[in-house]
Amino acid sequence: MAGASDPHPWFMVVHEAAAAVGPRLGRAAVKPGRGEVATPGWLPATRKGCVPHLTPDLLARVPHLDALQLPLQDFYPDTAALRGFGKGVGAFVVDPDHSFFLTAFADGGAAPERGGCAVREVTAHEEGTIAKEGVAVRTGGGRTVVGVAAYMDHVLALGPDAFASLAPEISCLSSRKQTQKAHELTLQWLDTCLQRLPRESGMRVLGVVGGGRHVDLRVRSAQETVKRNVDGFLLSGFGLGESFAERETLLAAIVKELPPHHLRMVAGVGAPLEVLQCVEQGVDLINSAYPTMATELGQALNFSFLGVSAAAAEGGVQIQVGRPYMEDALKVNVRERAYKLDPRPISLGCECYTCTHHSIGYIHHLLSTHEMLASVLLNIHNTHQYSLFFEAIRTHVRAGTLGELKRRLLDALKHGR
Ligand SMILES: [Zn+2]
Repeated sequence: MAGASDPHPWFMVVHEAAAAVGPRLGRAAVKPGRGEVATPGWLPATRKGCVPHLTPDLLARVPHLDALQLPLQDFYPDTAALRGFGKGVGAFVVDPDHSFFLTAFADGGAAPERGGCAVREVTAHEEGTIAKEGVAVRTGGGRTVVGVAAYMDHVLALGPDAFASLAPEISCLSSRKQTQKAHELTLQWLDTCLQRLPRESGMRVLGVVGGGRHVDLRVRSAQETVKRNVDGFLLSGFGLGESFAERETLLAAIVKELPPHHLRMVAGVGAPLEVLQCVEQGVDLINSAYPTMATELGQALNFSFLGVSAAAAEGGVQIQVGRPYMEDALKVNVRERAYKLDPRPISLGCECYTCTHHSIGYIHHLLSTHEMLASVLLNIHNTHQYSLFFEAIRTHVRAGTLGELKRRLLDALKHGR
């Protein structure tokens, strides 16, 4: 689809940033008839189009969630059935309500612990995988290289609502030479993607902006991608070894080069402080598996810093600072024996099905007996909390008080409340 020439833009900024780089509100009408995606928003990582542990009816109950990410390798290369089906991946996985964004990250093994997508290129030792033939991905049938022509055949068979161009993702550990090589391939492949996309497809194209840790290459990548007829941008290669400060510098440098009315997406980050950092730099969409990652570790998110309910602080489970099993103060380790007979919900102020029907002691029991219902109940709560976090972000951006939310988050991380 045409970006700059589209008379009916799919993405609209409804609350401009106060400065050239800053938080903003938007709406993405990805496909006619579907719910609009409010931004800053969350794009959950999926496995074959499904958020792990959640059936479609449970997913429909997650508030403010209108789009999902679909990894390339989940259906690759077996798309014959989808091609014959002909109605797109949303109908194929019986989820007509959400819009699907297809992404193509290289093989690096499943990395849910980083909060990003399912499969990523991770370290410098894999630089050799950057090849002009395509991107190496790990599929159900083993590791394979996907060239840009095969990628577009796959895209057209799946029929997502939006997709990112194929790109050899570069981490901040990669050398300048490799980063430059990846930059050139990224642009070549983007051109091929655009050439092979039928005008009538209706799919939105996100051009990938790479450049690793090199600010000048990031800027050049952004400048060159802007010249193409894309509908938005995927700022790639984050959550792959850069420091917090480095990421901020890189994001600011990129965003300055991007047109103000195109959607900007980041993958590979997902912790709340990382999300706020991206939003502060004008990012619209975060592709993350953060809640599911917590679920699979037996952890429950406790975002009481959002101020959902005053009762939450009094009646919900109290986070204890400095417990060695906790990654940070925003998560409760439900496997901890202290919760064995605890009759309280995970969070008293939370309105999710789990918190309104079950105690943390029951979920502890389910985890102890390896019942899969434990993961279901935990992910209902975790996705609910995470979506409310993004809703709070939008509320604070609208009110110009995002700094206040960040202060409360930092206080929670420091003091566990
Ligand atoms: Zn809950």
